[in-house]
Amino acid sequence: MLKSLEVTGFKSFAKKTELFFKSNVTAIVGPNGSGKSNVAEAFRFVLGEQSIKSMRGKRGEDLIWNGSSEIGRANRAKVKIVLENNKKLFSTLERDSARGGSASGGFEEVVIERVVNRDGNNEYYLNGSSVRLKDIIALLAEAHIGALGQHIISQGEADRILSANMRERKEIMEDALGLKIYQYKREESERKLQKTEENIKQVESLRREIAPHIRFLKKQVEKIEKTEELRVELAKFYRQYLKQEKNYLENQKSQIKSEKEPISQKLENLEKQMNEAKDILEASSKKDKKSEELIEIENKIEKERFEKDEFYLKIGRIEGEISAGKRNIEKLEAEQNKEGSKTISLYEVEELEREISAFSEISRIIEKIREFIQRHKNNFNNKNLEELRFYQEKLGKQKQEMEIKIQEMENELKDLENKYNFIKNSIEEDKDSERVAEKNIFRISSEQSESRNKLELLKEREHRLEIEETDWKREIEEGEVLLGSAIVGFENELAFAEGFNEAREENRRELEKMKIRLEELGGADGTEVTKEYKETLERDEYLKKELEDLKKSADSLKELIKELLEKLNTEFKQGIEKINNTFQEFFGLMFDGGHAELKIEKLKIKNLAENEFGEIIIEKEQKTEIGIDIDVSLPRKRIKGLDMLSGGERALTSIALIFAISRVNPPPFIILDETDAALDEANSKKYGNMIESLSKVSQLILITHNRETMSRASVIYGVTMGRDSISSLLSIDFEEAVSVAK
Ligand code: ATP
Repeated sequence: MLKSLEVTGFKSFAKKTELFFKSNVTAIVGPNGSGKSNVAEAFRFVLGEQSIKSMRGKRGEDLIWNGSSEIGRANRAKVKIVLENNKKLFSTLERDSARGGSASGGFEEVVIERVVNRDGNNEYYLNGSSVRLKDIIALLAEAHIGALGQHIISQGEADRILSANMRERKEIMEDALGLKIYQYKREESERKLQKTEENIKQVESLRREIAPHIRFLKKQVEKIEKTEELRVELAKFYRQYLKQEKNYLENQKSQIKSEKEPISQKLENLEKQMNEAKDILEASSKKDKKSEELIEIENKIEKERFEKDEFYLKIGRIEGEISAGKRNIEKLEAEQNKEGSKTISLYEVEELEREISAFSEISRIIEKIREFIQRHKNNFNNKNLEELRFYQEKLGKQKQEMEIKIQEMENELKDLENKYNFIKNSIEEDKDSERVAEKNIFRISSEQSESRNKLELLKEREHRLEIEETDWKREIEEGEVLLGSAIVGFENELAFAEGFNEAREENRRELEKMKIRLEELGGADGTEVTKEYKETLERDEYLKKELEDLKKSADSLKELIKELLEKLNTEFKQGIEKINNTFQEFFGLMFDGGHAELKIEKLKIKNLAENEFGEIIIEKEQKTEIGIDIDVSLPRKRIKGLDMLSGGERALTSIALIFAISRVNPPPFIILDETDAALDEANSKKYGNMIESLSKVSQLILITHNRETMSRASVIYGVTMGRDSISSLLSIDFEEAVSVAK
């Protein structure tokens, strides 16, 4: 039930004006231009009408009190409608009590309020709370108050349902049948579907966009992995190689050492032998000394021999003297026997003296002998025998001494001779060993030079090995730079298989090749790229999942739309059938017979599209849509179709249809603005009857100049416009109404 309408600053209603609708039929009457239609438009406005044109304006501003010579213009227009909810038509509100404000006990009243400001801004309120237009529309659709306003038939607009094309009619019917709610739902679902499909496209394009990046990153990561593999492979190879080189160097060193050792040993020996040989040769230089010594000995021997011979001579003399003395003694002994004494001649003594003095070495003995002779010379003749004997004895002693001396000399000589022979032999021997030594020196020095050459070669090898060792150390450093700790511990690595010596160069070349390959792959750190690849993959996976979700929700939306369409279709068909029954009934009533029917037609809609040059083209595929045709035939007249009807006939037909629609799906209220204008008296009566019948299902607000119509109203409001151009309302009785209307 419509309870009241409050209009403030709306069009000609400058001041707050309230209308109460206590009865089922309310009439609004008044002279032309007083503001009656503005009331109908206030209903349109508050129920969410978006077409300003349908409220006879161009902009929202046109709906606001524009001022007059007496009263200034308003800043906003406000219309408030109060609906009773005792039939619980607004079930949405019941379900969603939060929307209305007071939550308890349901809503007895629904208060809808719309405000438009001069800037064209609209505000909507539901039971005092600010809401969106769409909330109002949804709420009203549920109570069979369509936004298209079939329940508000503006002045001259009754005909609209006839003049509309088939598609528009279909819309009107849908609205009237309360199917708009499905339509909204469908549209909303379609919007959602569109949005979802846009999202799908967006996600798909995002995936397409990142796909090359993923491919690029994948390649990068593969490259990094390959690099890593190569690095590991290279590290292994490098370690093996280093170990191989280490083994090689060690082997070579020990080999050289083992080769060097005997050579050094040999050289040492040779050196010793050389020294010996040299010593021998040096010794032979002492040979001259030996010869000198030999000559000296020779001389000594000669002298000794001579002296010995002298001694032998002296001994001979002494022996002669002794034998002479012996004879003298024997003579003297004989003389003594006769004379008593014997003498030796002085001459003989002197002769002895002379002979003895010839010996140089025994000159001292001789001197003594001489002294003795001298002493005894003068009296020699007088010497006695005794003296002779003494002398004889002395000579014997002399002889004995000399013999000892000779013996000594003989010994000495023998020694000398031995010595001589020894030296002589030794000189001979020396000559032999010299020859041997010379030979040896020749051999040794050739052997020495051979060994030295060998040693030189070994040193050369050693030198080369040192260079190789430096290279090896440099390779270790390079490896550390290139591979870091990966080459640490290469000492524990197994070198390449046996025979590495032959493969050394080959391995070195292989190592260089691997190094170059690694450098070509780029030694950059791959963690960033790998991370990015992982993240991008995750993002893609997320997008894929989202795409799946979106497709799922698109599918369920499509399903929902399909269901809604089916529901719409069946309910629409059923609704049209019901309308047709009532339409025929009212039509028959109005025209005393005849036939009227709504027909569902399939319309082929040309599908317009733009080609690539921006030209409009008609696509081959055509959509089929449903439209509503109206088939009428008047009784006793041979006219068919709407175009042939008179103005009154058209009005009657449209009223019959509007009422039929309203009966099938009665809206809570219907506002009819001078729908009865074109009716004659007889038809006004029929109209009045229909109104009474309709008022049983819907509340009616009738703007009219028609007396018959007024007579059917329980409450009549009179609208007047004063000198100040402001519309005002007053409740009046039928008689007043009739006069006001006039
Ligand atoms: P009729 O019986 O001829 O149909 P009516 O009673 O329906 O007339 P309306 O059309 O409702 O009259 O009212 C029109 C009046 O409202 C005009 O006089 C017009 O000047 C006035 N009007 C319309 N818009 C405004 C506005 N924004 N500010 C002030 N007055 C306005």
